[in-house]
Amino acid sequence: MARKYKRIAVEEGFTIPEIIAEANKMDEAARFAAGLGPVKMSPARAAFTECLLDLGKSRLDAMNADGIDKALLVVSSPGVQIFTPGTGTALSRLVNDRLAEAVRAHPDRLAGLAALAPQDPAAAAAELERATRRLGLKGGIINSHTKGEYLDDRKFWAIFEAAQALDVPIYIHPREPSPQMAAPLAMEGFRVGWGYAVETATHILRLISSGVFDHFPKLRLVIGHMGEGLPFMLDRIDNRFVWEHAARAATPKSKRLPGDYVRDNIVISTSGMNYTAPLQMAIAVMGIDKILFAADYPFEVVRDSVVAMDAMPLAESDKKKIYQSNAERVFAL
Ligand code: CA
Repeated sequence: MARKYKRIAVEEGFTIPEIIAEANKMDEAARFAAGLGPVKMSPARAAFTECLLDLGKSRLDAMNADGIDKALLVVSSPGVQIFTPGTGTALSRLVNDRLAEAVRAHPDRLAGLAALAPQDPAAAAAELERATRRLGLKGGIINSHTKGEYLDDRKFWAIFEAAQALDVPIYIHPREPSPQMAAPLAMEGFRVGWGYAVETATHILRLISSGVFDHFPKLRLVIGHMGEGLPFMLDRIDNRFVWEHAARAATPKSKRLPGDYVRDNIVISTSGMNYTAPLQMAIAVMGIDKILFAADYPFEVVRDSVVAMDAMPLAESDKKKIYQSNAERVFAL
């Protein structure tokens, strides 16, 4: 039976040689803190790095083999956020130009989000405008913290102001936990599956706590990995949010409950979460219109995510929303 939907995957990684070359100039300790590992790559890292660097034939061949119709490309974590403000901004422009070039060559197969360097907030806001208005990219991506700082700090809010004005989403993608959280989360084998989720979910709760969504009520964020654990915790988060403020006679900086912002201002992708129970729960908590399909190429086996999503106990009309129409709406594809 022919498929009645396109498969659009919205968190598909790539990088450019210039970012790798710049990161290779950092000393080993700085590289480790940034989650980069040694300059000499393990065979597994060398293999996925080769995939990240290809924006043409090999990538399209892989998409064809895996049944992916369109990929929304995002610069691989930590992207341009580990460099000085000047270098980060220059590399963000270069990577966005390169991405736009790839999209122009295959407009029916590829789309992309603009890499942003929050190290220079005003330049990042300007780059978001240039990349979306002039280059045709569909929003921005920020790989969680920037040198240990989170976007709830008002010095970064020019980026959110631009995103709201341009009506484009910002994808908050995980990276190695910030220096403040790194030590207890540095357990080999749990750094990614647990540490990345704690890092990113904490970032989102800091944003909510800062009142940023009251300041920019139309701001739209995207988070991966089935919502980084937030949908599962949302009722308790709301309950204890009220209790804690009452117990301390404190007034929240945000006007509504945390769950209200998660449901209204955030959409989630499935990236790497090819499991039925979390998907069903996320649909129940967030609503079917808030879930996007992502495969997380080349860090996950894309075929597994397609097989799992195809087999989900969902109506074909719901699969069409997750695979296609939600992504088309959120990213104006
Ligand atoms: Ca990813």
